[in-house]
Parts: sequence; structure tokens; C-alpha cells
Amino acid sequence: ASGYTLLRDPRHNKGLAFTEKERDAHYLRGLLPPSVSNQELQEKKLMHNLRQYDVPLHRYMAMMDLQERNERLFYKLLIDNVEELLPIVYTPIVGEACQKYGSIFRRPQGLFISLKEKGKILEVLKNWPEKSIQVIVVTDGERILGLGDLGCQGMGIPVGKLSLYTALGGVRPSACLPITIDVGTNNEKLLSDEFYIGLKQKRATGQEYAELLHEFMCAVKQNYGEKILIQFEDFANHNAFELLAKYRTTHLVFNDDIQGTASVVLAGLIAALKLVGGTLADHTFLFLGAGEAGTGIAELIALEISKKTNAPLEETRKKIWLVDSKGLVVSSRKESLQHFKRSWAHEHEPVKELLDAVKAIKPTVLIGTSGVGKTFTKDVIKAMASFNEKPLILALSNPTSQSECTAEEAYTWSGGRVIFASGSPFDPVEHEGKVFVPGQANNAYIFPGFGLGLIMSGTIRVHDDMLLAASEALAAQVTKENYEKGLIYPPFSNIRNISAHIAAKVAAKSYELGLASRLPRPKDLVKFAESCMYSPVYRNYL
Ligand code: NAP
Ligand code: MN
Repeated sequence: ASGYTLLRDPRHNKGLAFTEKERDAHYLRGLLPPSVSNQELQEKKLMHNLRQYDVPLHRYMAMMDLQERNERLFYKLLIDNVEELLPIVYTPIVGEACQKYGSIFRRPQGLFISLKEKGKILEVLKNWPEKSIQVIVVTDGERILGLGDLGCQGMGIPVGKLSLYTALGGVRPSACLPITIDVGTNNEKLLSDEFYIGLKQKRATGQEYAELLHEFMCAVKQNYGEKILIQFEDFANHNAFELLAKYRTTHLVFNDDIQGTASVVLAGLIAALKLVGGTLADHTFLFLGAGEAGTGIAELIALEISKKTNAPLEETRKKIWLVDSKGLVVSSRKESLQHFKRSWAHEHEPVKELLDAVKAIKPTVLIGTSGVGKTFTKDVIKAMASFNEKPLILALSNPTSQSECTAEEAYTWSGGRVIFASGSPFDPVEHEGKVFVPGQANNAYIFPGFGLGLIMSGTIRVHDDMLLAASEALAAQVTKENYEKGLIYPPFSNIRNISAHIAAKVAAKSYELGLASRLPRPKDLVKFAESCMYSPVYRNYL
């Protein structure tokens, strides 16, 4: 290839870091200014440039440009500065990017499959330049973060999630494929926007929707084989539960909003036991919000308790209560409840308000997953603190404006006794001379390592026990030092190491269950995970 082509190939371009010898060998003379740099210096310069932008969206755009120009440098930055850059390439800024996708859109990223491609999806997959794909993240854009229906502009999410698969989980970038399925949008603003990039029609539903998705699922398996991991992302809950149930027995599928969230939150709860004492079975749980996140977490908690105590799931579910937009989920409502809520409809008189539910159930753990902010009021938190020495409160709704309460409110209203974590990041809080660091129940702790574990073992189906294994692996990474600050999650700075441990435990479980096809089983799975991980360090082209 010519030097000119090399400079325009993001997978191989090193910019000024091409050495004198490489410049000679690859016809690069004159195509670069004379100075020779190195990756560390390039990183320093780019981080400096990035910090000059006051508008976070501009940082996002600069990162996307870098990804298109010099992929290894992009990942080097992301890996070395993970705490600083995670909120840029992922939630919350990626959400803003999706909202403004039309105007910041330069070169298409990922694969777009719309209703127009019906009957031709296999051909569309073959248009993608990379052939050995290991993981697909797919969305239909109907429920992007807490931002609602963004149609085709949801593409920012699969792109962002996959960059974390690489940066945090070490999956090769060339093995990652972001896909957006466009079946229309019900977002009126987009439909009337002359610059909207997606199909200008109302969402297809029912059979038309199911057929397109089925063709997609079949084409993916036909093209990439049994071991391709398909992560569903940001589907509305009426489709999310159904797709997962339908395809989990025939494909390697994982829904991050349901299963990934559940695993990350369970990890926090297991870790929190070190601070509050007892076992999970000793606790009573109350959720505000009974959707993908709420019921997903509830189910995994019930499963973990059931495994640990040998009690049947029907029993362990009874200590878990959920409140939805109509009040406490109780048996008298059963007929009118959506399927995924029915196993949580316990015997109890109807309760409308959260505060009354808290007083009636007396939970030890309160978890917010409704997407509605400011719902953990002073009265709610005071009630929790009145019957719990150390109330465990998780305010998971995103973005920050939708958080059930702030970290400061939780610590203040509980008199500094709360164990708190949230979905969106909060700064440390000082309360009566003590500094508390609130943890963030970020899904990015689990899915990259979880995916790596599946991929490296050649797993063909996801089993719930693998989610439990991932939770336990993450909880085991919380150190004494972290606990002393009130943290129930480890810091992100060590995430690649954490991912390797999660991957190892997930793979071990897969081998144990006979679902791993990579044989023989590597002896040391942590070492094996590390050896599989992509490194962004430049290669020598001589
Ligand atoms: P979802 O499937 O749409 O579920 C939302 C649930 O909240 C539904 O059960 C809904 O009730 C209920 N709800 C809505 N308004 C309510 C109100 N005013 N009072 C009581 N309940 C109300 O959404 P999701 O995917 O579960 O996500 C929910 C939130 O969790 C989002 O903000 C998301 O960002 C956050 N989340 C955080 C993490 C994390 O921290 N790692 C992970 C995933 C999700 P009905 O069923 O009656 O409509
Ligand atoms: Mn999501």
C-alpha cells in the first residue's frame, strides 16, 4: 500500500510517530512533517487539546475524530485516562451526542439496517469490511438512556459501548460491530426535522417488527456462527424482555439494561454486606421502578439468595417488593400487570405512595430505578434511617437530573449513616467532618469483562449463573481501603484488571456448565484473559 493510504487507515496510522525507518520503508517521506514523535508524547498533546474544550460535546467530537484517524491512540487515551474520558464517550455525554447526531454526523459509523433492507440483511452484513466479528451491540433506538426515542440517532450508543468493550474489556476493535436497526421513530421532532438521518415513518410494531428482528438474528448467526455475542441495548421494555426470552435459547444474547444492570447492582449489594453485616437473605428490598432495571435486579437478587440458601425462587422473591407508577405491585393487581411484573405481585393491601410503602414494608435496602428524579425525599430517607442502623440506598436513575436524590441529601438526611451508590456520578460529600465517597453503579464495570469471558471461552449461551459469577468477581475487587471511604465499588482506574478477573470467573462458570467450546480449558483463566486483551501500543511496521 502507498504511504498516503497508510496515513488514512485509522487501524494502522501512527501520525508523527512513524519512525525514520518506517517513513523510508512505507513511502511516507514528505507526507509528514520532519518531526518524529512517540505515542506518549502524542497522548500528552491530545489530552492537553481535549482539556481546552469547555463544552463536553466538543470533547466527544474530538474523541470521535481521533477514533477515525488513529485507532490505537484513541484507545491509549481511553485506557490511560478512563475516569476522565468515560463520561465523554459514554453516559452522560454520549446521550447528548445522540440527541444532536444529525448535526455532528460526519462519517457513518457502524451498520444501519432499516426496514428497507428487509429480505437483504445477510447481504448488508457482508458489506461490513471486517469478517471475524466477535461482538455486536445492537439498538433500535427506542429508549436511549433516559432520553426516550431517538430513532436512528441511537447509533452513538452501540458505538460508545463497543469502544468500552475494547478499552475496558480488551476485545479487539476489529472484532466489534455496532448496529442500529431502524424501524422508524415515534419522536415527532425527528419526524419533522428535514435533516433527520433515519426513516421518516412511525415505528413498525407487531409482526412487521418481529419479522425484521428475526431475519436479523438469523442472518447474524448464519454469517458469524454460533459464538457471536449479541448485546441488546436500549430497546424499550416491551420489546427488551420479549427479545431476550425469545433468543436466549438459540443465540448468545445479553441485554445490558436488564442483565448487566442486575449484575452490577448485585455486586454492590454483595460488597455492601461487608459494611452492614449479615447475608443477602437477611435483607428486605424495595424498588421504586419495576421496568427493565428494577425487575432485572430483583430477579438476580432472588436467584443469588436461592443459590446460597437452597430456598426455591418463589420463596426468595417474597422479600423483594416493587413500586411502579401505579403504586406497590401487589397480588390484587395481578390481572392488569405486565408479564415481567407478575412474579413480584405479593399478598398485600394496595399502597399508592412510596413513603407509605417504605413504612409498610420496612426495607433494609431501597433501590430507585424509575427514571424519575427527586423521589427519595427527606421523609423517605428519614424513614429508612429510622428503622435501619445503616440503610442501604441506591439511586440509580440517570442522568444526574433524574437521580432519586443526591449523594449529599442521602448522607445528610440519614445523619451520615447511609450506604449510598448512584447511577450517575456524584462528588465526595463531607458530613460532620467525615468525607464520604459515593460509588457509581456503572454498567461499564460488568459488560466488558463479562463479554470477554464469553468470547475467550467460546461460550455459546448466556446462563444466569454467569451473571452471578460476574457479580461476585466484581464485589471481590472492593478493597478495605475502598470500604473505609464508604465505597461499594472499586475505582475505575484499575478496570482492565477487574475485567480480567470478571472474565475469568464467567469463563470458569461456562466451562463448569458445559457451555464453553474452546477446549482444552486454559489452566489459569485470569492469565489467559490478560493474554487475550488488546493492547493499544503501536506496532512496529518494519
Ligand atoms: P423502564 O423499563 O422504562 O422502567 C421504568 C419503571 O419505572 C416502570 O416500572 C415505571 O412504571 C416506573 N415509573 C415511572 N414513573 C414512575 C413514578 N413516577 N413513580 C413510580 N414508578 C414510576 O426503564 P429502565 O430501563 O428500568 O430504567 C429506569 C432508570 O434506571 C433509568 O433512569 C435508567 O437510566 C436507570 N438505570 C441505571 C442503571 C445504572 O445505574 N447502572 C442501569 C440501568 C438503568 P410503569 O411500569 O407503571 O410504567
Ligand atoms: Mn443501556
